[in-house]
Amino acid sequence: MKQQLTIALTKGRILKETLPLLNSAGLSPVEDIGSSRKLLFATERADIRLVILRGSDVPTYVRHGAADLGIVGKDMLLEYGAEGLYEPLDLGIARCRLMTAGFEGRPPIQGRIRVASKFVQIAQRHYAGRGIQAEIIKLYGAMELAPLMNLADEIVDIVDTGNTLRANGMMPLQHIADISTRLIVNKAAMRTRHGSIEDVIAAMARAIETRVAP
Ligand code: AMP
Repeated sequence: MKQQLTIALTKGRILKETLPLLNSAGLSPVEDIGSSRKLLFATERADIRLVILRGSDVPTYVRHGAADLGIVGKDMLLEYGAEGLYEPLDLGIARCRLMTAGFEGRPPIQGRIRVASKFVQIAQRHYAGRGIQAEIIKLYGAMELAPLMNLADEIVDIVDTGNTLRANGMMPLQHIADISTRLIVNKAAMRTRHGSIEDVIAAMARAIETRVAP
């Protein structure tokens, strides 16, 4: 048998939207991922397997070559870096925006602004790029709570409909980046296993082209 290729998938919302694309690309898992506690799955192709990870771990697995390809949000690539990776395809799924957010009509901050986020690098670059002194406070979830609890003046978070912000009395302020899900490839694997990786890229590209709009 040919050496297996491993594709790292991001669990959660991205996985749900990825599965129909994998099905149409002929790469569907042989078991139901949703009802299993396993993390490694065989696919209908003997030479391809899937591993299910947190999004923040997908670039790491692919960069180190533990997985050859990955499917991950652009936010993770902006936060954790894209060195050692190619990004050949935008899958156009899980679209959202990275924004700063805070209370409407808040008086200007004197001195350093306190910003809560799980996107520490992105937040640091954003405020530094505008010449604003910011103290970035790392959180792992529920960013919108931080201004309510006076832990922070603003947050940097993912916004889709804006409902989460509005429900907590806040509004989106500055746009940082448009986000969607990307196919990434380990650069060394792209050279050594070019044929089989190009096959996967082409199959995913066809799946994107032929997908029915939701
Ligand atoms: P919304 O209330 O529709 O603006 O959604 C905002 C929340 O949903 C954010 O705090 C995110 O945690 C989550 N979210 C929305 N879209 C995405 C996405 N594409 N990827 C990851 N998380 C998302």
